Amino acid sequence: MQSVRLHEVALRDGLQNEAKVLSVAQKRSILDSLIAAGFRDIEVTSFVRPRMIPQLSDASEMVAALPQVEGVRFWALVPNQVGLERSLDAGVQNIATFMSSSETHNKKNVNRTIVESLASLEAVTRTAVAHGQRVRAYISTVFGCPYEGDVDPASTLRIARALLDAGASELSLGDTTGVANPLQVQSVLRYLEAEGIPMDVIAAHFHDTRGTALANVLAAWQCGVRVFDGAVAGVGGCPYAPGAAGNVGSEDLVNLFEQMGVETGVSLEGACHAGQVVETHLGRPLPSRYHQFWQTSQQAEDTLLEAKGA
Ligand code: MG
Repeated sequence: MQSVRLHEVALRDGLQNEAKVLSVAQKRSILDSLIAAGFRDIEVTSFVRPRMIPQLSDASEMVAALPQVEGVRFWALVPNQVGLERSLDAGVQNIATFMSSSETHNKKNVNRTIVESLASLEAVTRTAVAHGQRVRAYISTVFGCPYEGDVDPASTLRIARALLDAGASELSLGDTTGVANPLQVQSVLRYLEAEGIPMDVIAAHFHDTRGTALANVLAAWQCGVRVFDGAVAGVGGCPYAPGAAGNVGSEDLVNLFEQMGVETGVSLEGACHAGQVVETHLGRPLPSRYHQFWQTSQQAEDTLLEAKGA
């Protein structure tokens, strides 16, 4: 049977864009529901400067509280050398770095040029790998930039090559503002593959800002991509990309692949439950399509039970 791997980002990418700051206990209950649902790659926090993202300022505490679960990998975002050292001190085994393939977005996001970011992240990656960490590299704005518009795929290629050479094992290509379309996704992926980037190191990170995320997921899958990022209930966007809505819902991914007969290893019901836990803690309605569908059908069931006097 065909299968894909889902990379769950609700606790990191999701929560970092929320106004409400959750406690470690609340995050832990989200984490437990994600593990119970069957997610095996879960991004749990970020070692950016605590002042920058107060939502994730409890990174070390979160990592210290992680359970040991067979077959589950926990990931933490690392922005630079300082973040890397904090992650190593905390005993993190899997880290994710990030930079943008658009010069302006990178500058606004991390106040560095692409060349400066790349030099720093190559060093971070080499050190991390030397310490036995696995490194995933996020490349954002691959399919368009809120400041520059079109982004040259050659920029993505240069970054991809350099970070793979430095030892990254996975590249997550991000559609930061949800502007990608399926034909563009295929054209960028085919270009990268023709230039020697194998599809088995690529992950796709789509946002559903304009309702095109699942179409883009399918396009990437048809090109051979087998790792997809998602956040339960579609929580999270990008604070530096005006108007960017949430990540594609993990429930939407599970449902899509399940319907196509492609295994995800994740229970759809379990993912829906995890999405509900996130929504309850945040106290605001969350956007993913399947999350909303599931809630509506739960309510309909409750109403039916009430009518029957159950
Ligand atoms: Mg995202």
